[in-house]
Amino acid sequence: MSESGQEQLRQRLVIVGRELYQRRYVSACEGNISLRTGSGNVLISAAGSNLGKLNSADIIEIDLAGKQTGTQTSRDSGPSSESGMHLAVYIAREEVSACVHSHAPYATAYAVASKEPEEDILPEVVALVGPIRLTQYASPGTPEVGESLQPFLSECNAFLLKNHGLLTIGENLKVAHQRHEIVESYLKILTIASSLGNIDKLPPAEITRLKKLLAES
Ligand SMILES: [Zn+2]
Repeated sequence: MSESGQEQLRQRLVIVGRELYQRRYVSACEGNISLRTGSGNVLISAAGSNLGKLNSADIIEIDLAGKQTGTQTSRDSGPSSESGMHLAVYIAREEVSACVHSHAPYATAYAVASKEPEEDILPEVVALVGPIRLTQYASPGTPEVGESLQPFLSECNAFLLKNHGLLTIGENLKVAHQRHEIVESYLKILTIASSLGNIDKLPPAEITRLKKLLAES
């Protein structure tokens, strides 16, 4: 991949990192983001980086075994400690090219409360995200985080990491990021609707129609 092409990909990660920070989905050194390059390697935020203040020197290139490749950056602190989680996704899902992980507060609250939300309440969740699954707890930064995704990895684009945070994935960074925002907004709405005392589901025919849209996307 050309140097300018790589730089463009790095800049996309920089922009998404900033947006996650601005929306307060991450603070300090929380969260990590990555994408798969055309050469099959992965660009991922560096260990300990603040996603709101990322620059291209804070993006590390690794291969699917987790080994650093390519030109290393001046400020190289190694790839995110959650690289294993990202790699587990890329290895299992060939069509996935981006992962976004944050500690977005509503999603993390659901993960703390062990509440797995039903996905048939808002149209955009059914059509654009699909099932949202709650994983078993795994210590952040360990291989167990990747393993905790395995039961749902074949059919799921959004994971509530137990007592940890939110992971969304997609065929590109735009889709993975969009799913992240949709899930967090959805769980905020569900929290408010719960306090109002009633949550109605979409009609079954509408769910069938919307699921078809997701399958075709
Ligand atoms: Zn995390």
